[in-house]
Amino acid sequence: MSDDPIHIHDTLTREKRQFVPDDPKNVRMYVCGPTVYDLAHIGNARPIVVFDVMARLLRHVYGADHVTYVRNITDVDDKINARAHERGISIRELTEETAKVFHDDIAQLNALPPDHEPRATENIDAMIAMIETLVEKGNAYEAEGHVLFNVPSMADYGQLSGRKRDEQIAGARVDPAPYKRDPADFVLWKPSDPEKGEPGWDSPWGFGRPGWHIECSAMSRSILGETFDIHGGGLDLIFPHHENEIAQSRCAHGNDVMANYWMHNGYLMAEGEKMSKSLGNFYTVNELLDEFPGEAIRLLLLKTHYRQPLDFTKEGLADAKRELDGWYRLKADGGEVPAGLVDALCDDLNTPGAITVLRGATNDPSALTAGANFLGLLQRNPDDWFKWQPKSAEGGLTDAEIDAKIAARKEARANKDFATSDAIRDELQAAGIILEDGAGGTTWRRG
Ligand SMILES: [Zn+2]
Repeated sequence: MSDDPIHIHDTLTREKRQFVPDDPKNVRMYVCGPTVYDLAHIGNARPIVVFDVMARLLRHVYGADHVTYVRNITDVDDKINARAHERGISIRELTEETAKVFHDDIAQLNALPPDHEPRATENIDAMIAMIETLVEKGNAYEAEGHVLFNVPSMADYGQLSGRKRDEQIAGARVDPAPYKRDPADFVLWKPSDPEKGEPGWDSPWGFGRPGWHIECSAMSRSILGETFDIHGGGLDLIFPHHENEIAQSRCAHGNDVMANYWMHNGYLMAEGEKMSKSLGNFYTVNELLDEFPGEAIRLLLLKTHYRQPLDFTKEGLADAKRELDGWYRLKADGGEVPAGLVDALCDDLNTPGAITVLRGATNDPSALTAGANFLGLLQRNPDDWFKWQPKSAEGGLTDAEIDAKIAARKEARANKDFATSDAIRDELQAAGIILEDGAGGTTWRRG
């Protein structure tokens, strides 16, 4: 289908490079996952969908059994502690509830589950072991119950973000703690106070909890090894999170690289502005799914190249829905992925190019369908797609409620109770449901 090798724009070297995996029998990708304290917003959904397409492409090129895709869940974080306290529930209740809604929401966006989804709280031992190594090697030190990474101990710190030393200091978590040897030093471990409800674990440095950055270094090491192929995430993670992951992993293992390719998706705005609750343009995936089917959200996210900024609008979402309506009318099985689609994806995951190929394939419905499937689109059957309606729709009846009313109408007709059967028909009609009686029974569609 495609002879072109994959090329990836690598944030670290700042160039588009041919992708050569360390081991083509085990292509390894790590992507930073959610911190589960609140519902995912549409900006959080962008890397989920982008790297889902990347994982699909890698599985296509190297074989489904030869790709290991890891996306973590951060379930220990001060934002989690604060939110659980605010809501008067346990940390565990909050993280379980939030992780469940996250999984349900992104399943609606047709994001396939990663091969591994490690949780920070289940990998504390690996984090402690890595911190101990960093202390032994002289890259980290203990001070007042904290363990800090000493930034000047790494000669070439800062290569990923390209930040100069004064910018590193300004950008580091603004925390002018007196125990820091250097203002750019960052936390690997910090003390927890059980009386304040802070979660903690026993460690060589007392009862405490890990910093955020060490989680990903330890979990990627546990599952993928000291070095791996691709590390992904949003642009906002380059500094300090990914810069510090590199510092921790390279210094602990004595390697020149952590990941061979660094991929970062661009920023997302909503309705032309930075998303903010006060502007009314702060969209959670969960509430968008009440208004639009998940596939429309997925298509809209893929219409912009992952490295470009994306302006997410409800108007754009309605356009994406209409485009999918057209494709669903054509849906047909048994085709081959249209020429050029995989080539577009191999060119630094050019999803807008792949969508252009789909638009050119509408005269060959089975090829259109196969190509859309490759991108994780057209995954429903057309009947279900056209029955979908927003939660707010007038007379918003669920499919199950409509089916139950049709069954009641059938029973009324069998009993020759035509007044009741007509009343049910009128009620459904008022709700925009059109019934068609045929030899095989009654079918319905939303008008
Ligand atoms: Zn991470």
